[in-house]
Amino acid sequence: MTGRRGLTIVLLTLTFALSAHLAAAARAPQAFDAPRAYRDLEKQCAFGPRVPGTAAHRKTADWLVSQLKPLAATVTRQHFTVTVREKRLALTNIIATFNPKGKGHALFCAHWDSRPTADQDPDPALRFRPIAGANDGASGVAVLLEIARALKAHPPAQKVTLVLFDGEDYGPGIDAMFLGSRYFAENYRGAPPDWAVLLDMVGDKDLRIPQEANSRSRAPKVVSAVWHAAAQVGAAAFVPEVGDPIMDDHLQLLNRGIQCIDVIDFTYPYWHTLADTADKCSPASLGQVGRTLLQALAEGGPGSPALKPVCCPPGAR
Ligand SMILES: [Zn+2]
Repeated sequence: MTGRRGLTIVLLTLTFALSAHLAAAARAPQAFDAPRAYRDLEKQCAFGPRVPGTAAHRKTADWLVSQLKPLAATVTRQHFTVTVREKRLALTNIIATFNPKGKGHALFCAHWDSRPTADQDPDPALRFRPIAGANDGASGVAVLLEIARALKAHPPAQKVTLVLFDGEDYGPGIDAMFLGSRYFAENYRGAPPDWAVLLDMVGDKDLRIPQEANSRSRAPKVVSAVWHAAAQVGAAAFVPEVGDPIMDDHLQLLNRGIQCIDVIDFTYPYWHTLADTADKCSPASLGQVGRTLLQALAEGGPGSPALKPVCCPPGAR
């Protein structure tokens, strides 16, 4: 590229790049308190395994609602029952909304229950015990609670819905999993959110999050937006590599037309064992995920102008 025409294009490109940079700076998200998020992870574990039908499960639901009530515009409990192996389970999704009249709509979700059986535990004698679910359950919820506080302090431009799913990990087979997300998706009314992000197993001290394969193929724009945001905030745990396909709550939403990705680190040696405890998780990991989601929201999600190529203004060529 040479000559005056080339110079004009370069100048226009620089102007666009600078204005995009300034716009992004103006929307810089608020701080995410990672140590407080970690305390919320510990708090959930302290209730005991959050297995449907137990006192710990009921107490955790009450606590989650009590945390969200002062922060959100609306908080609702979505009660439903599911019969699993002739046992009737009473389950509850918890749904909080922020800025309901906002332009655009983001949905962030995680599961709040924990698995009744440590079926991957190295000791076969322990496999019938329930797990603490520090990473598998509590980590995603902890990030969302802290995001709720950030949204209260600095209301988002978009409508934001947070959903805490129950019964994700009941199992042991997949016929008795994803119960809350399935119910939520099947009963969702109104226009679907523009984009959605599921957080699952995001607290591992050694956090490494590739782009889950189903998310990449079925909601690629959401993947681009979230990984772009991660790069902006220096969240190195988000690696731009294709990960394995994972069966998780996001598939229930995708099957109902909601563009949902799964942010998950599935290489966790304590998965579905009694060793999935808070000491395996870290505030720094929760912080990377929380800052990334707030950044993605500040940038406008998949509709962000920052994601469009800085090139080719009209008439330039
Ligand atoms: Zn699990």
